[in-house]
Amino acid sequence: SDHALSYPASPEQFDWDAHYPAFAGSGKTPEFADVGCGFGGLLIALAPLFPETLMLGMEIRVQVSQYVHDRIVALRSTTPADPNSTSPGPYQNVSIVRANSMKFMPNYFPKQSLSALFFLFPDPHFKARKHKARIISPTLLAEYAYILKPGGIIYTITDVRDLHDWMRTHLEQFPLFEPVSEQELRDEGKGPILDAVYNSTEEGKKVERNKGDKWLACFRRIEVSRD
Ligand code: SAM
Repeated sequence: SDHALSYPASPEQFDWDAHYPAFAGSGKTPEFADVGCGFGGLLIALAPLFPETLMLGMEIRVQVSQYVHDRIVALRSTTPADPNSTSPGPYQNVSIVRANSMKFMPNYFPKQSLSALFFLFPDPHFKARKHKARIISPTLLAEYAYILKPGGIIYTITDVRDLHDWMRTHLEQFPLFEPVSEQELRDEGKGPILDAVYNSTEEGKKVERNKGDKWLACFRRIEVSRD
């Protein structure tokens, strides 16, 4: 349960400097959030591509989040710095929290702070009575719309057709999101992000090995602000 976990009362009270010491004092908060990040493959793939962008994984399992933490610590200390880069050292821009994202997203992310929100191969919760456990729902979409910047992107991908239809339908019906095609995103230069969405995570690699299908659905937080 969540009782053993402590959560920041608000994003302002969270110690971002402890997570991103090389960015301490910059006032930056994460712009990319990977929800249910598992073993961290997406974050590790994206970190070197966007060295000035802070990224945060959220993972509820204790051992898995500890593993990702240890992985980031090791990468920070063993990856040689790029002599041509003016950014803080390798992997300084990536971190992880153990958290139940379904309850506490707005405790971490300020209003309109995220440019990308990732839901990669989320748990399907097949049975109808478990659908409320799904990571996409009208209530949660209101939270996601709140923390995303106007123009920010939600990336979803799954090998479960029923879950794909569920996520797509709920996002289509929510007034603050509009569908955006893979081609449109690639034309905007987001190809490297999409490639990582398809292939970088442990679950994505497993689906690849098993020659399963991967269904992608991406949505943009619309620009007009109603608040
Ligand atoms: N995204 C990763 C990947 O593609 O390899 C992991 C996919 S795995 C099927 C789903 C992950 O979501 C698991 O690691 C699980 O522990 C995590 N998870 C499930 N519910 C969560 C929640 N409410 N908050 C945070 N993480 C959650």
